[in-house]
Amino acid sequence: MERIFVNGQFADSTAEKSKVIVNPATEEEIAEIPLCGEKDVEQAVAAARKAFFSWGATTPAERSALLLKIADRVEQHLESLALIESQNVGKPLEVARFDVCAFVDNLRFFAGAARTLQGLSCGEYMEGHTSMIRREPVGVVGSITPWNYPLLMAGWKIGPALAAGNTVVLKPSELTPLSALKLAELTADLLPPGVLNVVTGLGEEAGAALARHPGVHMISLTGSVRAGKAVAREASAALKKVHLELGGKAPVVIFDDADLDEAVNGIRLAGFSNSGQDCTAAARIYVEKGSYEALLDKLAAAAQSIVVGDPLTEGTEMGPLVSQEHLERVAGFVERARSKPQVQVLAGGERLEGRGFFYKPTVLAGVSQSDEIIREEVFGPVVTVMPFASEDEAMELANDCQYALSTSVWTQNTSRAMKFVKQLQYGTVWVNTHFLLTSEMPHGGFKNSGYGKDQSIYAVEEYTEIKHAMIRFA
Ligand code: NAD
Repeated sequence: MERIFVNGQFADSTAEKSKVIVNPATEEEIAEIPLCGEKDVEQAVAAARKAFFSWGATTPAERSALLLKIADRVEQHLESLALIESQNVGKPLEVARFDVCAFVDNLRFFAGAARTLQGLSCGEYMEGHTSMIRREPVGVVGSITPWNYPLLMAGWKIGPALAAGNTVVLKPSELTPLSALKLAELTADLLPPGVLNVVTGLGEEAGAALARHPGVHMISLTGSVRAGKAVAREASAALKKVHLELGGKAPVVIFDDADLDEAVNGIRLAGFSNSGQDCTAAARIYVEKGSYEALLDKLAAAAQSIVVGDPLTEGTEMGPLVSQEHLERVAGFVERARSKPQVQVLAGGERLEGRGFFYKPTVLAGVSQSDEIIREEVFGPVVTVMPFASEDEAMELANDCQYALSTSVWTQNTSRAMKFVKQLQYGTVWVNTHFLLTSEMPHGGFKNSGYGKDQSIYAVEEYTEIKHAMIRFA
């Protein structure tokens, strides 16, 4: 049984229930975690509260130095962390290595950002009085992460929170907690006790306990809209700060003047990488009617060329879905979509025989804007393609969505590209590319995709409160 990490050391949970962790590629049991409840969360929050007074008083330079040490330590353990991540999530080892490197880069960015926080100018706004703006840490932050990029999402949360001087109780997804526990182990001798705590368990139990705990001053969640709403409800009773990075259903708008091969390559990566289990995944493809047939042919061939299989084998491009339950969910979306006679399955549309929760890269055409497959987040290797006839129609179709995390437009026409950058209502708009994120740039959505930004200096600001101090000198 795994142990939880509280106050700088591993401890047995008081939980009476546990959950077996399964490798989604082999269906083998690889670990067992306690399903923590109020009691464990209480201890973790108490440790974080105690640690806050000294951690919050450290200088930015001290926090920066420690974040750099964590980044170095994680980099030294790249292979073992990538293996944990690959076996727990089912992602190809190469992708898992990329995730660990992205975590390292992210922490190094936040180490630098810790030293750059700014307030507005200070000055005399009343005679005989000087005012100044201070940015204070919020306090104890509850961080709740999803299963698709477990370590990387933990970095997106921990990096800015610690940089700003907060202490953290992290609850990883109940499906993929192993890299967060390894991270705790790797940082145990670097961070003062209580600065980072890790509890395992279900969202509705450990997660909800964290969200409602009065000693937690801010709750930051990356996950589904359903979980985001639940956390916001719990947090509202205590009026605590809430930061939500939720689902996505990214539209990809391709004009006749775009380089079609580049667009197809972009979708091959952005639609199917991580088995499509990505909030920015290229999901809804809208293509100008002159290129529609050509795109269908090229995209179907590209999807069929993706190497699906054992995540530990060199050359594998796509692994399984994360769980049996999720496999059934994804397959259910495709079955319901194809039950309409006009819907064509141009690639995939079925699971792979044998062990593991594998589903083939799937391309669907003949769908309508009102179909469930267009309106709901599938979170699997499934893309849909629809034609459009004009710029206005493309804009309307792309913006017609409850999610608003990211989108891309593919065109050689600069004026059109700029018009779409302005009018697409999404947190990120890419032009002639899709999927790329960088530590320096903010990531977050509009509408049901949540509020608050991860990454960038904006993330550090999210984890601070602004204080006005006024000093009378006359
Ligand atoms: P999920 O909502 O099921 O779970 C996410 C986390 O929230 C888990 O740790 C879970 O235990 C917890 N949780 C669930 N219900 C909760 C509750 N009532 N109270 C407190 N915590 C609760 O999501 P998932 O299936 O792990 O991840 C997939 C979702 O995450 C997708 O919708 C995806 O788009 C989204 N996602 C968004 C981003 C982003 O940056 N916007 C990044 C990655 C994933």
